[in-house]
Amino acid sequence: MTTPMLPGHPHTAYRGGELCIATQPLAALARQHGTPLFVYSKAAMLDALAAYQRGFAGRNAQICYAMKANSSLGVLQVFAEAGCGFDIVSGGELDRVLAAGGDARKIIFSGVGKTRSEMGRALQAGIGCFNVESEAELEVLSEVALSLGQRAPVSIRVNPNVDPKTHPYISTGLKGNKFGVAHERTLQTYQRAAALPGLKVVGIDCHIGSQITDTTPYLDAMDRVLDLVATVEAAGIPLHHIDFGGGLGIDYNGDTPPAADALWAQLLAKLDARGYGQRQLMIEPGRSLVGNAGVCLTEVLYLKPGEQKNFCIIDAAMNELPRPAMYEAFHQIVPLAPRDTATTVYDVVGPVCESGDWLGRDRALAVQPGDLLAVLSAGAYCMSMASNYNTRGRPAEVLVDGDQATVIRERETAQDQMRHERLVNTR
Ligand SMILES: *Cc1c(COP(=O)(O)O)cnc(C)c1O
Repeated sequence: MTTPMLPGHPHTAYRGGELCIATQPLAALARQHGTPLFVYSKAAMLDALAAYQRGFAGRNAQICYAMKANSSLGVLQVFAEAGCGFDIVSGGELDRVLAAGGDARKIIFSGVGKTRSEMGRALQAGIGCFNVESEAELEVLSEVALSLGQRAPVSIRVNPNVDPKTHPYISTGLKGNKFGVAHERTLQTYQRAAALPGLKVVGIDCHIGSQITDTTPYLDAMDRVLDLVATVEAAGIPLHHIDFGGGLGIDYNGDTPPAADALWAQLLAKLDARGYGQRQLMIEPGRSLVGNAGVCLTEVLYLKPGEQKNFCIIDAAMNELPRPAMYEAFHQIVPLAPRDTATTVYDVVGPVCESGDWLGRDRALAVQPGDLLAVLSAGAYCMSMASNYNTRGRPAEVLVDGDQATVIRERETAQDQMRHERLVNTR
């Protein structure tokens, strides 16, 4: 029997015809906890982190996990215990880091629309840095900090205007984009920041996009950011740290992103050549730390043959796997116990009442109702984007560590979903 290839999933493999993470047969976890079910490999997360740590060995560098990729507490705990900081984009994410035992001083706060209340809470928690994305935000942050008798540490997110050649919805460093301060306005913005009494300039930041599989956009962005560092410092505003954002891609379907340590060997060579190798460096990786550490287990409900298409209807949907509907993204879908029979080509779809609710198109599968499948590369931007559309409860999550499997989130019930709702009193 030929077993499918599992791109980029080093701790996931077929053993005796059964798909396993480490020593755990996934079918047993699916039977025990029900489907759809997310299962994460702790070893795969730590391996992904280790590639960055190797890349930065001997450097003054802080890795801040961009937690919007997967913000479940048990996942945050893995990274907090490994010494990571966190890149947050909301007050809710701040609460999660603190609940998971993360160090507030290693938090950086990104995002174009921070509210006054979020700024105030982050200042009171003592976070490391605000990545400010507009001049208007600088003014508000200064006011909020002064009202608390503080000076907010700030870095300005600059828009280097490089094309990361990824999906338009996940490219963030181009001119027509809502993110960052335009390259041409950087110096003015820093001068304003330096003049505001409630701010303390500490760094510079950029983030050009996501699922980047090529080294060139990073090298181009670094050149542009270092040019800006030189300009800003020549104007008498020292920058203590340089933050190069996140965005490194993963292998979903034969993608070949550079390994994190290989990418950083090239970037650090450039930094050294330009005389910035001793600066404090920050990075904000999300997807590349968790994406290929997770799978979503699902059961085949029905097979529905058709004239133009055959449909394989599964119990997972766009609720928990939103990337195909949002970005036409590809996830590998493989059986937990491959059958030795002929395959049929299916569109794999969920139960949600939307034509956009598909998980995979034109997939050759040998399946029967009741079979279990794994949707691969489901560790990033799946559970953290999950919704309750169609009043579907969000799935449970299990973290596998060697021969231990721990439920880090229970399945959501309809009662959980209705908890904050009230009927109108009619009488
Ligand atoms: C989303 C995001 C990241 C992480 O991006 P990945 O592609 O998941 O690595 C980093 N920094 C900022 C500001 C982000 O918005």
